[in-house]
Amino acid sequence: MTTVGVLSLQGNVREHEAMLGSLGARVVRVRRPEELDEIDGLVIPGGESSTIDKLSRSFGVREPLVEKIRDGLPVFGTCAGLILLADRIVDGIEGQRSFGGLDVTVRRNAFGRQSESFETDLAVPELGDPPVRAAFIRAPVIEELGSAARALATLPGGQVVAAEQGRLLGVSFRPEQTGETRFHERFLALTA
Ligand code: GLN
Repeated sequence: MTTVGVLSLQGNVREHEAMLGSLGARVVRVRRPEELDEIDGLVIPGGESSTIDKLSRSFGVREPLVEKIRDGLPVFGTCAGLILLADRIVDGIEGQRSFGGLDVTVRRNAFGRQSESFETDLAVPELGDPPVRAAFIRAPVIEELGSAARALATLPGGQVVAAEQGRLLGVSFRPEQTGETRFHERFLALTA
């Protein structure tokens, strides 16, 4: 059975746990370096990317995780998780770092404040019909895609909001919040 971790330093851990569990995966919380050795894949949840960044350093999990990503660990990042997967961050707080791996430039809080959060039906050609009901909550966008990454979804305004590269998958929105399972299924397929 596949064991997947949810990085549980801050953010909406529970929604991911519930969704992954409902899809048949064994789910464990990951906070400490040794917990990384038990897993076949990792979800980095939405929350506050700068807080998750800081806590990852205090728990000593940052460096081992960066290495695992480099070695091919499948990782799915949503919202703050996308920011943490991005190789480059625009508008990060001072000293903020990501784990990296996904060859993209991400802009934090690209749609403005919390009050500008919204839900929309998003076409994701790879997932087919129906469109994805996507919740954008102080969400980032992918401002630039490096040559190694591929866009999976683009808003009508042209902003890239989902991308994939090898075993890494990142989305600007929160599929776990709207009951959208197809991205989690796609992630689980990467862990097989
Ligand atoms: N604005 C948050 C950040 O910068 C991301 C928002 C979210 O995860 N819902 O980390």
